[in-house]
Amino acid sequence: MNNLEKEAKQFMKWKNISTITATEYQRSACKTAIFPKELGVQYLALGLTGEAGEVANKVKKLIRDGGDTPDKRKEIGKELGDVCWYLAVLAEELGSNLGKIMEDNLDKLEDRRARGVLGGSGDNR
Ligand SMILES: [Mg+2]
Repeated sequence: MNNLEKEAKQFMKWKNISTITATEYQRSACKTAIFPKELGVQYLALGLTGEAGEVANKVKKLIRDGGDTPDKRKEIGKELGDVCWYLAVLAEELGSNLGKIMEDNLDKLEDRRARGVLGGSGDNR
């Protein structure tokens, strides 16, 4: 990384902007994954829902205790990061690319929007 790239990266940090791709994130997250391989999908799905529960619990406490502050929002963001980690590693364990999953999901939602069926229910509407 040259000096210009380092300065650009530092600027992005100051501005709270990231350019990491889903694929890069998935690749990096998998380097820190430790779990029993024979129960990988189950372990990671439980972890994902556990971390989503941590997000919900922190939001719940904002409702109960008030005091919606930048620090509390930052703490919720950290839990969202934990959700991302489990999501990325679970996608890997399922043999999927996280970026492709994200694109397919956006395509599905855009199709629903175009057909006027964003509201309502049903996985395959
Ligand atoms: Mg957590």
